[in-house]
Amino acid sequence: MTIRFYNTLTNSTEEFTPVEDDCVRMYSCGPTVYDFAHIGNFRSFLFADLIRRTLEFFGHNVHHVMNITDVGHMTDDSNADGGGEDKMEAAAKRVKEDKKSGKVPEGAVENPDNPFQIADYYTHAFLDDAKLLGIKVAFESDNILKATENIDTMQDMISLLIDRGHAYVGADGVVYYSVESFSDYGQLSGNSLEELREGASDRLNASDQANKRHPADFMLWKADPSHIMKWDSPWGTGYPGWHIECSCMARKRLGKDVIDIHTGGEDLIFPHHECEIAQSRGATGAEAFARFWMHARFLLVDGGKMSKSKGNFYTVRDVLEGRVLDENNEPTGVQVHPAVLRLELIKSHYRSNMNFTRKGLQDSASIVKRLTDFRARLEAAAGDERVEVDLSHPILADFGKALADDLNVSGALGVIVPWAATTPDNPAEALAVLDRINSVLAIAPLDSSDGDSSDNGDGESEIQTLCKQLDEARAAKDYATADAIRDQIQAAGFEVKTTPDGTVAERPLA
Ligand code: AMP
Ligand code: ZN
Repeated sequence: MTIRFYNTLTNSTEEFTPVEDDCVRMYSCGPTVYDFAHIGNFRSFLFADLIRRTLEFFGHNVHHVMNITDVGHMTDDSNADGGGEDKMEAAAKRVKEDKKSGKVPEGAVENPDNPFQIADYYTHAFLDDAKLLGIKVAFESDNILKATENIDTMQDMISLLIDRGHAYVGADGVVYYSVESFSDYGQLSGNSLEELREGASDRLNASDQANKRHPADFMLWKADPSHIMKWDSPWGTGYPGWHIECSCMARKRLGKDVIDIHTGGEDLIFPHHECEIAQSRGATGAEAFARFWMHARFLLVDGGKMSKSKGNFYTVRDVLEGRVLDENNEPTGVQVHPAVLRLELIKSHYRSNMNFTRKGLQDSASIVKRLTDFRARLEAAAGDERVEVDLSHPILADFGKALADDLNVSGALGVIVPWAATTPDNPAEALAVLDRINSVLAIAPLDSSDGDSSDNGDGESEIQTLCKQLDEARAAKDYATADAIRDQIQAAGFEVKTTPDGTVAERPLA
């Protein structure tokens, strides 16, 4: 099957083939961990997960890496010059307030003035949410790289860029990348250096301009001993720019100068990804950094931008725990199963803005329920019989054809939802087909089993502990305690199920 993806770099849909047959190397820009990631962020992360799962469906081996930005992402990063306040620094102020209001639970982030504690708290929260939504890379700790743990690699790349004539120390002591040194700067975003010069001139004051060779030159390292997070370097004690981390970590973990796919949300095209390309190619001299640049359009809520002031700014926990607002701006109180949120966030085409609505969630819940019921029917009919199927099966061929067409999820659903209403002649074969479909969609069931997460206040790990305690109480025939624990799990919004492997708590489907 020919797989075709839209490539932002060439503004066209192209046939995808990996640089090396044995492995697709893929990098995704991860979250900046100064707050809970919102469902818009998760749209982008799920989009990356969908690419990976689709490639695996077609038999590719995929090495997927994601970073955690825990330093260097400035509040003014819509420009490329690293202005403003570090987002981790800004977070310290907010977390103090959130601790007072209880949004950050008692005991978490003991010292909000310590940005490492803030980053750690939100990193765990992100990974817990990502696992809940079945994002595979979140289960692979080796493939999740933190910026603060890779400062040496960044310094090495900065030295290399200086040696190769792509970077220089400005009059203010900041190390800048020289955009004029890289003739393809602007290729991804369609900006020309002249346009950037004009745009930047309005923004930068005379002294800023005097420090740089070109107004669009961007920061690689800034000496600033007063910064909240700082490291020694040949250019003074300070901190790295945001863009350099991804160039370094992609190369370090994926082990190649040229990778296959790089993903992010549409806002990252410029400056972040433009700067990554300049840095990576500047350092390696290679003709390309990533062959395919793939970007998800933004998620909107009820047709508008998500914003804290409108109250329509939802985290994953907000949605799962029933805090989506109704038409009277009141929380609906309707708990949502993670599989439903996962489907809702992947079902619209990634190159269209997605509109998050209660109606959409209900539709997704009904699809998840249909597929879950279908699986239960097939399992009952198939008994112990298990068979293998290959992608030539007509349902898999049509499902695959839609996904291979630049991830046409709605087309894929159009194949499987009517099929789920049928009674297949060979239930064991149909079950095998459903398993393969579910290896991509991961909604029936959603495998969000979470082996190594710690509890960060969202209650998931606590619930698992309660399930164990319930089993222990039952084994000891202490039924009063077992009942009390079951009530406690149900009160937290979970259904309690007894399985051959012990008690399992699941969120209800809708
Ligand atoms: P950040 O945590 O700000 O570094 O963003 C993490 C990822 O989420 C990036 O790939 C962003 O492009 C993406 N992103 C941010 N807001 C949205 C949104 N409303 N819809 C989709 N993706 C988003
Ligand atoms: Zn990045």
